[in-house]
Amino acid sequence: MPGFTPRRYDSQTGGEILFNKKLKLRLIEAQYRIKELEERLCPCEQHDWIEIHKEFVTISNCDMEVLRTYKCKTCGKVTKKYDWE
Ligand SMILES: [Zn+2]
Repeated sequence: MPGFTPRRYDSQTGGEILFNKKLKLRLIEAQYRIKELEERLCPCEQHDWIEIHKEFVTISNCDMEVLRTYKCKTCGKVTKKYDWE
């Protein structure tokens, strides 16, 4: 496309990143709450997590996270955690 300037696209991307950061903070808060509840739910009082799966999740164009799946050896409960948690 001749004469095309990507300025508008850039500002949209910036807004998206900011949004993702806010979303990330909210997710962290939610995950902490879930974590607290899960700790209380194990019959042995403390979960014994082992990693059973690993996947890559694309958050935005230049941001990728590793999402790991853990399973408790004691009660069999499964949880998913990002590397930044
Ligand atoms: Zn457990």
